[in-house]
Amino acid sequence: MPLSDLYREVILDHTQHPRNRGHLEGADISIGLNNPTCGDEIVLELKLEGGEVSDARFSGHGCSISMSAASILTSMIKGKPGGDALRLAEAFKRMLRQESVDVDLGELQALEGVQKFPMRVKCATLAVNALEKGLTEWNQKGGASDGQG
Ligand code: ZN
Repeated sequence: MPLSDLYREVILDHTQHPRNRGHLEGADISIGLNNPTCGDEIVLELKLEGGEVSDARFSGHGCSISMSAASILTSMIKGKPGGDALRLAEAFKRMLRQESVDVDLGELQALEGVQKFPMRVKCATLAVNALEKGLTEWNQKGGASDGQG
């Protein structure tokens, strides 16, 4: 199977069977972002324990690119330290800018075809931008220094 077909299947699978879709009870972070050029809206909710993303969910609606990106991203960051999740987010955006990446992007690699379409890049990065915003806010609130108030 050509790589492009495999990638298409990954995106289709996540669009038809989104992972981690729904509301996260007792979330530590909730970030809503939208992409007006396409009409995508997403709310990313995260639970953080000991500096680790212990759970992640998303809700909202949008095109297949934005929804599959959110589904893949939430699957990949679960159980990862916040720093690793941020590195993954950064690497994903580098890939979409056609820059070199030294992090394993896993299924996020399936979205690389989007890099040729600037309008769709905004769809693909919506969930990732929500993740970055959320983890940055959490760090600023002192969330990383667990237990010190
Ligand atoms: Zn979109």
